Amino acid sequence: MPAVLLNIPLNIKHNMKIFCIGRNYAEHARELNHPLPAAPVFFMKPDTSIVIRNRPFFYPEFSNDIQHELELVIKLCKNGKHIQEKFAHTYYHEIGLGIDFTARDLQQSCKKNGLPWEIAKGFDQSAPVSKMIPLKDLENPKAIPFHLDLNGKTVQESNSTEMIFSIDKIITYISKFITVKMGDLIFTGTPAGVGQVKIGDHLEGYLGQKKLLDFYVK
Ligand code: MG
Repeated sequence: MPAVLLNIPLNIKHNMKIFCIGRNYAEHARELNHPLPAAPVFFMKPDTSIVIRNRPFFYPEFSNDIQHELELVIKLCKNGKHIQEKFAHTYYHEIGLGIDFTARDLQQSCKKNGLPWEIAKGFDQSAPVSKMIPLKDLENPKAIPFHLDLNGKTVQESNSTEMIFSIDKIITYISKFITVKMGDLIFTGTPAGVGQVKIGDHLEGYLGQKKLLDFYVK
């Protein structure tokens, strides 16, 4: 494997894309009263949403309902479009954790009015991302447990096996519409247990037993 794939911690490139999958865990779709999707639902965040190295998240003044969504995040290692599912696994070798911070109050009002929801999902610092771990270093890359502790209490806990659409299916679907490039990230959807954060909260995200996210809301 070329050394470029193992650049830990995460390197941020300009013009990298961040794809985020919505409703990829049945329990979470139910908790937000959504029907199960027939195809992956995705949206994007700009590179300015990224926070690295466990820097604090500063609560934005435009929302009163910022919610955490813990997600497995993969990093693309080559460019591609119209990627066939059987080759999709060759497009990523690293995985980490991210929080898809969501201004739920803004999102609800965007949805109610039939508007795009970028202000609710793509704002500055809305995407804290951990360092990346090579998939080959995991005990079982086909079944990856992960969880989020909020102030020491586990609030979200799941496993990659619970995804409605697998990572390979997601890559195939996205690349039908948009060329993916080396360095792009995919947030693969959040499991149930999303909830509000407030100033002073401590978030700790675990990939298996490894703590990858550890930061405060300020
Ligand atoms: Mg999400």
